[in-house]
This record gives sequence, structure tokens and C-alpha cells, in this order.
Amino acid sequence: MRAAVVWESGSAFDVRADVVRRTPGPREVVVRVRAAGVCQTDLSLADGAFGQTMPVVLGHEGAGEIVELGSEVSGIARGDRVLITWVPACGRCFHCVRHESYICSNRKRSSEQTTASGFEIGGTAVQAGMGTGTFSEETIVPETAVLPLPADIPFELAALLGCAVPTGFGAAVNSGEVRPGDAVLVIGCGAVGLSAVQGARIAGAADLVAVDPMESRRAAALDLGATHAYSPDENPVAALMDSPGFDVVIDAVARSSTIASAWRAARRGGRVVVVGAGKPTDFVEFSALELFHDEKQLVGSFYGSSDMRRELPRLISLWRAGRLDLDRMVDGRVDLDDINDAVAAQRSGTSLRTMLTL
Ligand SMILES: [Zn+2]
Ligand SMILES: [Zn+2]
Repeated sequence: MRAAVVWESGSAFDVRADVVRRTPGPREVVVRVRAAGVCQTDLSLADGAFGQTMPVVLGHEGAGEIVELGSEVSGIARGDRVLITWVPACGRCFHCVRHESYICSNRKRSSEQTTASGFEIGGTAVQAGMGTGTFSEETIVPETAVLPLPADIPFELAALLGCAVPTGFGAAVNSGEVRPGDAVLVIGCGAVGLSAVQGARIAGAADLVAVDPMESRRAAALDLGATHAYSPDENPVAALMDSPGFDVVIDAVARSSTIASAWRAARRGGRVVVVGAGKPTDFVEFSALELFHDEKQLVGSFYGSSDMRRELPRLISLWRAGRLDLDRMVDGRVDLDDINDAVAAQRSGTSLRTMLTL
């Protein structure tokens, strides 16, 4: 079958037809992937970030159909349409029983099981990146990594619900707790930032300001609900810092410099949400006195604090009602064979999200 392989850090994706997948374990399923998004994290992993083992089939935003089931899998059938999540939840651990399935204690273990021998080419083991490996016609994931999709949502829109949308929407709605009338600032308008803009709009933000260096992304933010959009060059934080500042600031860039800007832009008693994977060596400083005196909250947001069994039906309902715009966020569609075009568009920022069709 076809899959896109990265052989070493920084090399191009190699689409080949001789990739073999193993048979599923008792509690695993095989998904025939129909659409897969190219996310910034895939590019970081392809460049060797987070110690990614090579060779690897990357991709973690995907939707498709079940084609094979492990012997102990129940409640799902061949032919079912599913979303793949890279945050499978065991449902039983300390965090899962507290409705914090996005930080499931058993996630790492289950994804490692899958990555141990996801694929093979001529006897060489190939990893399944993030335990999902969606840049492949077929992939094997734990049964807990698939969520049922209704018939009316196209695969290429549904795939977004596997990463960018719950991450950004959840950063605003779950981690940020945006309320009607709030003034909200979103820093960075890639697919996650734009989903945060949509989440803040749906939650009832009054002033909704988006910041991004690219004009096309600022235009998308305005289309998706931002009331103002600025380039960082325009020093928007200074321009908009008329007291009292923002109720909620969402940083979808997650560098120490943007976190510092977000911190300054939040009002006394306001909340800063940092969503996205920063670097382990990047540290943020702020005054201990200011923390006390200004009573600001700084919160991290992993996967938008999204408990997907509850979040996915909500996101689909909002899409159906015309309130969550997924179409505007998918601005490119290419065959898996042309994945390097999609990667180039994502790297340059000319595309919000290019969907691979398989
Ligand atoms: Zn992602
Ligand atoms: Zn768990």
C-alpha cells in the first residue's frame, strides 16, 4: 500500500507503494485513511524534533473507514466512519475518571505499543508517528483512538477535528473559559489560532483581536469572527493596551516572546492560555509581585483540554448549525502522492490547512 515515509531528519517525504502494515493486535483497529491534514507538528517531527525515531510515517489528523478489527474489539464495525485521535484515552486512569482524558496517564504507553512496529518496508521497521501514522492508506491504532463520525460530515473536513480544531476551540472555550462580552486576543492565526478565534466568537467574545504576520491569515481571522486583525509589526499589544486589557489572551505560537506579550496584554484578573508545543529550553520570566498584584492566571492547554468523546459531538453540532466554519480552514486538497507540495505550503504559511486525499 501507499504511504509517505521520512527516512531521516529534514529529508523530503518519500511516497512509496511497497509499505506493509502488520496485523492488528486484539484491541487495535485498521483504518483506511481517506483524508489527512498536514499539521505544523508533523513538520517539526520530520525535522527531528521531540526525538522522533526514523524512518517514520507521520500524520496525526485523519479520518477514514474501519477495515479490520482486532479479536477483542467491540462496539465498532467494519465500514464505520471514524475520526482518528492522537490522544486516545483509557477511560479508567486517575485523569480519565476526572474528565481529563486529554492527559490520560496511559496515553504514552498505548501509543508506544503502536509505534513499536507500525509499518514495514522490505523487512525494515517504520514507526507510526504519534501512534497514528495517517499519511498512509491504512494505519493501525488502538480501539480507543477512533471516534465515530456521522454520515453527513465529509472526511476532509472531519480530519480537522482530530487536532487543530479541538486544540484551538478548546483553548478558548475549555482552558480560556471565554464568556459573553469578553475581550479576547489570539496570537498566531494558523489552523489552531483560527480555531481559537472561532471558539471565542462562539463563546460570545465582544472584542476579538487576532495577530499574525501574514496578511492571508489575518484575512481568514476576520472571516472567522475576529473584529480586528493586526500584524505584530503594528505593535498591537501597545495599541490595544488601553486599560483594562484583555480578559483572555490565547497564545497559539507558544514562544517565550509571545507568552511575554500575552502576559502584558492580559488585564488584571485576566487569563493567558498557552496552547501548542513550545521548546523545552525556552523559559518565560515574569515578576512574582505582578503575579500576586495583578492576579493574572497563566494556564497551559494540551489538546484544548478536550475530552473528545464529549467534544466531538459538540463540534459536529456547531459545524452542522453553520457556526463552526471548517470549509474556510481547508484551503488546499492534494493527493498523497503530492504531499511535498502540501508540506511546502504549510512551511511557507501560504496554506491554512492542506488536506491530503487518499
Ligand atoms: Zn496537529
Ligand atoms: Zn486514562
